[in-house]
Amino acid sequence: MIRFDILSVVPELLESPLNHSIVKRAKESKLVEIYIHDIREYGKGNYRQIDDYCFGGDAGMVMMIEPVYKLITKLKSERKYDEIIYMSPDGELLDQKIANQLSCLKNIIILCGHYKGVDHRIREHLITREISIGNYVLSGGEIPASVVCDAVIRLIPGALSDETSALSDSFQDDLLAPPAYTRPAEFNGWKVPDVLLSGNPKLIKEWQEKESLDRTRKLRPELLKD
Ligand code: SAH
Repeated sequence: MIRFDILSVVPELLESPLNHSIVKRAKESKLVEIYIHDIREYGKGNYRQIDDYCFGGDAGMVMMIEPVYKLITKLKSERKYDEIIYMSPDGELLDQKIANQLSCLKNIIILCGHYKGVDHRIREHLITREISIGNYVLSGGEIPASVVCDAVIRLIPGALSDETSALSDSFQDDLLAPPAYTRPAEFNGWKVPDVLLSGNPKLIKEWQEKESLDRTRKLRPELLKD
């Protein structure tokens, strides 16, 4: 069982991606628990202030330390966390290897930034790992956090109906997945490769391995380098 605590100023953004499909089933099967925390509940004063102007006069607001500090301190007093992650465009680039690592942990906090991001002292003193989902800038860390959760949760044994299917996904062994087909075997004259209809598991496996390798060589040769 993995427990995620996700900290956000726009928790609504996390609702749909984390309440459907495989993630929903994993929650129902008690493989994962996801707690979404509204940072604003820890905001300052009657207005529950959570952001303030940027020192130095740059345009844009910065998420304040205190609300995030209070919330993280409260969570840390309740259990031990393996990782306190900040989603950030300048973090380590998420890949299948990182997803595999995270899937072996128990308790994970994910902090989502908004506006210009969080006061840098949060990153210096409270965060243990920073992850980016790609070299582009989004408006908030909620979609990136959902991406991390989804990538990790589908790796938990039992989360996918066919246990082996996460292992045959792209990147799992530095190879892209082979093409997949379903019925009908012929549509518009477009045919499924004969071997897949042969009923011969050995031939099928050989074909899939060859396709994986060919596709990786052609589409993502850098994966084969190491
Ligand atoms: N000023 C920051 C960007 C802020 S974007 C900079 O230039 O680096 C607002 C928030 O969205 C960030 O704090 C982060 O939590 C999230 N975010 C944006 N793009 C992201 C990405 N590619 N990966 C992960 N998080 C991202």
